[in-house]
Amino acid sequence: MNCNIAVIKGDGIGPEVVTQAMKVLDAVGAKFGHTFNYEQLLMGGCSIDVHGVPLTDEAVERAKASDAVLLGSIGGNTSTSPWYKLPPDKRPEAGLLKIRKELGLFANLRPAFLYDQLKNACPLKKEIADNGFDMMIMRELTGGLYFGERKTEEIDGVMTAIDTLTYNENEIRRIAIKGFDIAMKRRKKVTSVDKANVLDSSRLWRKIVEEVAKDYPEVTYEHMLVDNCAMQLVKDPAQFDVVLTENMFGDILSDEASMITGSIGMLASASLNETKFGMYEPSGGSAPDIAGQNKANPIATILSAAMMLRYSFDLDKEADAIENAVKKVLADGYRTCDIMSGEQGTTLVACDEMGDLIVENI
Ligand code: NAD
Repeated sequence: MNCNIAVIKGDGIGPEVVTQAMKVLDAVGAKFGHTFNYEQLLMGGCSIDVHGVPLTDEAVERAKASDAVLLGSIGGNTSTSPWYKLPPDKRPEAGLLKIRKELGLFANLRPAFLYDQLKNACPLKKEIADNGFDMMIMRELTGGLYFGERKTEEIDGVMTAIDTLTYNENEIRRIAIKGFDIAMKRRKKVTSVDKANVLDSSRLWRKIVEEVAKDYPEVTYEHMLVDNCAMQLVKDPAQFDVVLTENMFGDILSDEASMITGSIGMLASASLNETKFGMYEPSGGSAPDIAGQNKANPIATILSAAMMLRYSFDLDKEADAIENAVKKVLADGYRTCDIMSGEQGTTLVACDEMGDLIVENI
């Protein structure tokens, strides 16, 4: 297979971690007979420095012409970097919002997986952590409360703020289809999360999810109220496979799910549009505090590249090869500083060494 990947290394630790992910992709290409062609694009602070804007229209067009986008992270120290003296629409993050919008990315996927070797970092009780968990939080990204009409006005002499939560059936259907498609690649279970006991938007959500479910007889599905889901995530996270939910609920639940895995340096993410196109990036930011020191954990970005192989290119065994290589390297005791707990049998490695070790295990 010949895949054209737009690579946005970005700012801070972005270039360090993306370089490792490209090394791993090349190793996968060599082993399985694929060619990954990279086109590097600027976004964020590095684009401001060169072009005066966080993302040029030309970079957007090139990203659209690619098969998928691999992103590091963008932004700098928000207190000290000159990028943050610019008006909000010229700052690094404006590039991220622009590319998400231009690429029509409406489905956000954040896996939360507890590695055996990192169970000590899990803040849950030992008997819960010992069961492990492996879930995918699927969040709708472009609708709901964050994009509804809002206003603050005086009504009958009282200052009143109004936010509106709107979803139409098409927006719900397309994310539900994505959720069931992803479940078919996993353990074939969907938990659809809503607040249907209170909200009309949730009642419509439930109805459309039930319609979509009929097309996926192999997938078992259930509905769960969001407040219960927040509790179940810390009580029994092993029960979840795909958690399908709207924008705000997903925002909150995906952070909760991330937290129980123990380290931000391990968390991959993907944002998809209606086709197989997606943008793949680590969940963390540009970590300016450790940038340029070869200390960052590249695993989140390497696992994001694995997601790209699985969801944009349907290269499941190649994605498995990356995920298994990561597990093996952790089992062998290698740790970057963010996941180093000082246990016996562990060895501290730098960002590039971690990349090399994963390549060796492909
Ligand atoms: P951050 O995620 O960059 O860092 C938080 C902490 O986690 C830091 O101590 C950092 O060293 C650590 N960390 C993050 N990723 C790591 C990794 N791979 N390996 C080891 N340690 C890691 O969050 P922040 O400090 O709040 O934000 C820094 C900058 O990143 C800001 O400009 C912010 O706007 C930007 N940001 C960008 C994105 C993105 O590009 N999608 C996402 C979040 C934040």
